[in-house]
Amino acid sequence: MIAQNLAKIHNRINTVEHSQKVTLIAVSKTKPASDLQQAIDAGQKHFGENYLQEALEKIETLKGQNLVWHFIGPIQSNKTKPITQNFDWVHSVDRLKIAQRLNDQRPQGLEKLNVLLQVNIDNEATKSGVLVDEIDELIPHFENFQNISLRGFMCIPNPNKSEQSFKKLAKILEKYPNLDTLSMGMSSDLDLAIKNGATFVRIGTDIFGKRS
Ligand SMILES: *Cc1c(COP(=O)(O)O)cnc(C)c1O
Repeated sequence: MIAQNLAKIHNRINTVEHSQKVTLIAVSKTKPASDLQQAIDAGQKHFGENYLQEALEKIETLKGQNLVWHFIGPIQSNKTKPITQNFDWVHSVDRLKIAQRLNDQRPQGLEKLNVLLQVNIDNEATKSGVLVDEIDELIPHFENFQNISLRGFMCIPNPNKSEQSFKKLAKILEKYPNLDTLSMGMSSDLDLAIKNGATFVRIGTDIFGKRS
């Protein structure tokens, strides 16, 4: 089932006209390592996790398979160290203090940690992320960091205006020629996200089924 679902997602991705490279992240929060192993056996490499403790257990169970781990959930500042030790990407950086800690704690000998600024693209009170108006001020600070590399932006738009919000984030990325990554699009709106420039799509439900 998981293998078939992955094939369907790849079909959906290929159906949308796009010129950028699109990488599928399988969002596996709440799902057991055995489900992830099924996805791995079907060729899946990139996994996204929201909850640290749960993620660390799966990373340990599945080690040695050349996987790429993405942290996509809210970050408490006392949890940054294990994130730097176990993940390749962090999509949910929403304040400078977190970026500073990730930079300071990334173990020497590992490649730079790739990070994205989570943007609260629709300015919603219930969502985390930096506001659009704060981005310009924040970006130059990242030049001081030696151990993390700011690559672009992530957003979770209001579902009622996702296309408009994807376009808005793509437009913002264009202002920064050094950035190349847009993490946007989930099960319900991956097509619109790709059409508007997504380079990572984060898909949970349509691969692993509903979460309980
Ligand atoms: C859970 C989650 C997803 C996956 O959402 P689906 O609708 O299940 O595809 C993507 N991104 C983030 C940040 C999530 O928390």
